[in-house]
Amino acid sequence: MRLSRSSRKNAIPNPRIIPRPEHNISRANISENALKVLYRLKKSGYQAYLVGGGVRDLLLGREPKDFDVATDATPEQVKAVFRNCRLIGRRFRLAHVRFGREIIEVATFRSANFGKMQQSANGMVLDDNQYGTIEEDALRRDFTVNALYYNIADFSVVDYSTGMEDLKAGRLRLLGDPETRYREDPVRMLRAARFAAKLGFNVDPETEAPISRLAYLLGEVPPARLFEECLKLFISGHAVASFEKLRHYGLFDQLFPQTEEALNHEEHEFPLTLVFKGLENTDRRLAADKPVTPAFLFAVLLWEPLRRMAERLEREEGLPPYPAIQQAAGWVIARQVQRVAIPRRFTTPMREIWSLQPRFLHTRGKRPARLLAHPRFRAAYDFLLLRSEAGEADPTLAAWWTRYQEERGLDPTGGQKPAGRRRRRRPRKRPAPS
Ligand code: ATP
Ligand code: MG
Repeated sequence: MRLSRSSRKNAIPNPRIIPRPEHNISRANISENALKVLYRLKKSGYQAYLVGGGVRDLLLGREPKDFDVATDATPEQVKAVFRNCRLIGRRFRLAHVRFGREIIEVATFRSANFGKMQQSANGMVLDDNQYGTIEEDALRRDFTVNALYYNIADFSVVDYSTGMEDLKAGRLRLLGDPETRYREDPVRMLRAARFAAKLGFNVDPETEAPISRLAYLLGEVPPARLFEECLKLFISGHAVASFEKLRHYGLFDQLFPQTEEALNHEEHEFPLTLVFKGLENTDRRLAADKPVTPAFLFAVLLWEPLRRMAERLEREEGLPPYPAIQQAAGWVIARQVQRVAIPRRFTTPMREIWSLQPRFLHTRGKRPARLLAHPRFRAAYDFLLLRSEAGEADPTLAAWWTRYQEERGLDPTGGQKPAGRRRRRRPRKRPAPS
């Protein structure tokens, strides 16, 4: 087996095998479907392990978000074992075994032999489909705590690096030479910020050191992938902590340059307060198992650049508030999607949330009833509340709208209408126009 010098760095000569009595992973905490996949692979004569966040979180006594399986079977062999299986991905070919809503991701052990991989000028890995042994697979993973394997054959945990030790120390440490690993895949910098936030771990100094200097490499990453990462960062229950880490490492600027710029030139407290309160709100809703929509989140993150541009259009070009917001929204979104590809199904409601804001100023005649009947009223009202809590919008105006709904027997704390990923269908209260 050939390992590149970089990945040999934290390798240890023999794997450490932690037998079942010496760790706390119990099958009772593993999803039934993941167990089915593991047992079936084993029965078919393949090696099968649980790996990644599932093992890490179980060892930490947390509930895993999902379960990933690693095996020596090729994707085609996996497909032959499961009827409910689809092969996906080009850069990284995977098998998805589907059980209703749950998908178990099954990956074939990959080699750490980067010499053979296709790389871009900056060292980014473009093709990651060299199959290898479990040991090679361990060393090409990102962090030591993400490279622990739970073996279905004997229920032991296998550690090819310093994963167990780092887990106990609460330390996030990249496998191999950090700069090389960030160049191979700049998203690992975002993952460092995310796991530090989610797990409350300290980032090892060597892992931390190159991040600010290499943050610009995120410019090479496809915007669609960065959108997915943004969801993991901000719709995870740890949005506030993730935001702080990202800013600390100079990564936030790479994702939301217009927002970073607005926050750096703030004359008042409220732009930063609005972002904080918006993210806190998202974390709180997720903790209470309530749905959140990415549209609301991105509307919060981009509000300050949008507000400034709209204000300038009003001041300098004499546009009325509504067209000013419309035009500014077009520009802000066009610039943003060059970095983070927010899909149209989210940018459309974002624009609506924003353009409804000036309509809250009209509290006389038939206009309030018309606004209340707008399908996006709920989210727009929540947005107004945030603005008022942040000190940007008039709190008496927000209070007026709260009372207005209460007087009509509506519950103003109903929250955002779910949209997108976590959509849950619920009958919507349709207020009768008064
Ligand atoms: P969570 O699912 O809780 O967000 P996770 O660690 O399971 O965290 P996934 O994105 O599900 O993260 O990836 C599963 C595993 O695949 C990781 O634990 C890691 O071992 C490996 N991995 C994922 N992305 C990368 C990457 N960019 N570079 C190297 N290894 C990676
Ligand atoms: Mg995972």
